[in-house]
Amino acid sequence: MLQAEEMDKKPSIFDLTLSGLEAWAATRNEPSFRAKQVLQWLYQKRISRFHEMSDLSERFRDELDRHFLLKPLICARKTGSRDTTQKFLFALEDNSFIESVLIPASPALYGSASDRKTLCVSTQVGCAYGCKFCASGLEGWTRNLQPGEIAQQVLRVEALSGEKVNNIVFMGMGEPLANYQSLLQAIEIIRAPWGIGIGARHITVSTSGLAPRIRDLADQPLQIRLAVSLHGATDEIRQKIMPINRRFNLVTLIDACAYYCEKKRQRITFEYILIEDVNDGLEQAVQLARLARRLEAKINLIPYNTVKGLDWKRPSETRQQTFYRALRQSGLDATIRREKGSDIDAACGQLRLQTMRDKSFAGSDNLR
Ligand code: SAH
Ligand code: SF4
Repeated sequence: MLQAEEMDKKPSIFDLTLSGLEAWAATRNEPSFRAKQVLQWLYQKRISRFHEMSDLSERFRDELDRHFLLKPLICARKTGSRDTTQKFLFALEDNSFIESVLIPASPALYGSASDRKTLCVSTQVGCAYGCKFCASGLEGWTRNLQPGEIAQQVLRVEALSGEKVNNIVFMGMGEPLANYQSLLQAIEIIRAPWGIGIGARHITVSTSGLAPRIRDLADQPLQIRLAVSLHGATDEIRQKIMPINRRFNLVTLIDACAYYCEKKRQRITFEYILIEDVNDGLEQAVQLARLARRLEAKINLIPYNTVKGLDWKRPSETRQQTFYRALRQSGLDATIRREKGSDIDAACGQLRLQTMRDKSFAGSDNLR
């Protein structure tokens, strides 16, 4: 029997990719195809105990059990919206919480078609980037998620909702490119045929603009999609609401985006929240059009979603339309994203760092 502290140190089996598991199998003198067998139990048959892996020897199952944890994410709460969006609150091993949001089909969502089920996943507990309009950054950053904690959000949501997820957006809590290595590993698990099997073209990474990491991502042999949270089309306005603009200004950011488009031969998307009297003037539309034209980028306008504790306002429908029409008239591919799940605080920017201190979790139904 292992002691409690030793057990705590065991890594999660969900953090491993095929090559990692093959390397580990080799150290146990097992042929490399054992790795694929294990992964099949995890991702196709979705068992919850090593001892259910019935085509492996008992000795090997014991070895796995001794070295790895096989623990699903615990769902502390599931909330449903009137528009059928569902929000899942997961409790992690260290008692921190993350959220994932399952969004029904919507024409303005990435890669969306009528039968699409999009899952918005988190990559960090909290966020260090402190954008002035976003709930996720309000209480700062706690930690990065492990690859397994990221990928398991998909497995658990599928199990809890009975739905098959076929589109992933990294737009939950956190800045994906600030947790770069774990993000890449999680994408491999989500994408690989031995894993969850969602094609790279159905995976979108959203970033607030970590220019050097955008270049690194461009150098990866991966056809994932990129969305860039722009929200300001001049440095003056952007840095008022996004502190990251002081580190990587618009010239640096747009150059990195151009590099991405060129390497991937892909169009990226600019996300642009419309906030009343901050960035919704026509002169900003003109500047935004200029940037988008240079990269042939699509533009996704997001009317600001209310965040408790923040004073920003969503512009009127008329103002939104005026901004949108200005972009369309310049020949750009622009859409206005209709919010989903705002009645349960699951819309963009409404995912907030939650802790055990939050009394509402005490006694909440455990939906394991
Ligand atoms: N950190 C990454 C991904 C998570 S944020 C990023 O910033 O891109 C996901 C999206 O929600 C981003 O486009 C973000 O800017 C947007 N968002 C944040 N707060 C919002 C709010 N209050 N209303 C609407 N969208 C918001
Ligand atoms: Fe972080 Fe993105 Fe929110 Fe900015 S918008 S605070 S980068 S999660």
